[in-house]
Amino acid sequence: MRNLCILGSTGSIGTQTLEVIRNMENKVKVKALTAYHASEKLLNQVIEFKPDIVVTFEDPSSEWVSNLPANTKYIKGMEGIEIAIESSDMVMNAISGVAGIEPAYITLNKGKILLASNKEAIVCLGDLIKKSKENIIPVDSEHNALFQLIKAYKYENIKKIWLTASGGPFFNKSYEEFKKAKVVEALNHPRWNMGKKITIDSATLFNKGIEIIEAMYLFDFPVDKIDVVVHPQSYVHGIIELEDNSFIMHVSPTDMKIPIMYALTYPCRTSSPFKYVSILELSHIDFYPVDKEKFKSIDICKEVGRKKGAYIPALLGADEEAVNLFLEGKINLPSIANIVEKVLNKVNFPDPGDIKSIKEIIEWAKKEVRNIFSLQKVQI
Ligand code: MG
Repeated sequence: MRNLCILGSTGSIGTQTLEVIRNMENKVKVKALTAYHASEKLLNQVIEFKPDIVVTFEDPSSEWVSNLPANTKYIKGMEGIEIAIESSDMVMNAISGVAGIEPAYITLNKGKILLASNKEAIVCLGDLIKKSKENIIPVDSEHNALFQLIKAYKYENIKKIWLTASGGPFFNKSYEEFKKAKVVEALNHPRWNMGKKITIDSATLFNKGIEIIEAMYLFDFPVDKIDVVVHPQSYVHGIIELEDNSFIMHVSPTDMKIPIMYALTYPCRTSSPFKYVSILELSHIDFYPVDKEKFKSIDICKEVGRKKGAYIPALLGADEEAVNLFLEGKINLPSIANIVEKVLNKVNFPDPGDIKSIKEIIEWAKKEVRNIFSLQKVQI
């Protein structure tokens, strides 16, 4: 049986990972669960899965700790994360945003298998984790699909790789509607049910832009050989274009439990215990180009993918903080790209060679976002 640590177990991917394990008989043992808050949800997960270790960053109440199963040890903060990772063979990094970077680094440094759901870690650590790439199994649906496709063909025969994008809630809306969108509308994603940050990133397509950089590092393709196509049904997750003009696609229902199951059992496969979806239900497949005027994020991220170095953590910090400003109701959706661009124009750092400098650049970018906002005080 494989030992698993789930970082961020109460979020969307963490919860679905536990749902998969609950339905997979004796294939995976949950050794450690971690979350930011000492919530009731985490406590219930611990009571059900009885891990050896549970970690939170927030101080738990004494009552919370007293309700833990007898053999579960509570450890706080980064020290706990390190011990949790150490206790396991594989680590599901389901932490949302830039907080997932350091745990991914620790996982790979300890020689563990990283089930990579946190894309920020892959893009920021890209050059630092090259030698550990064999230990990474992508969980992000598009990269999981591409991982399977690319393996089956010769690298030199692949002309291009395509990431599909659902287009988010504003694909069919005018620029004016995109500009006027309220927080609730942007949080209403048509296909995937995800956390707030990634849902806003899906509305601006920054999520897809960051996924281009993620694919660049995972598969060793230059950004100019990676492109995005809008596919509103979200059944086709990845496409490779071969030099003979064939397109090979990966199709599956819109359900994150499928890539999670793949990652947990890789290199084997397992039969799904979940609802069967017939190919006839997946038969309507449309592709559209990306409106790059409305979604400036794609070109911004491609440029960052070409420049690499300090531009990558700056992009992530700036986007995360600009999304916060949007969620606070202070800026509109197109302003996110405008602010990110302004921050990127100010980048003037050497390539970050370690986690500490990556974190410093992220913090710098977040502060720059707040500075730009407070100086202009208006919709940017
Ligand atoms: Mg994705």
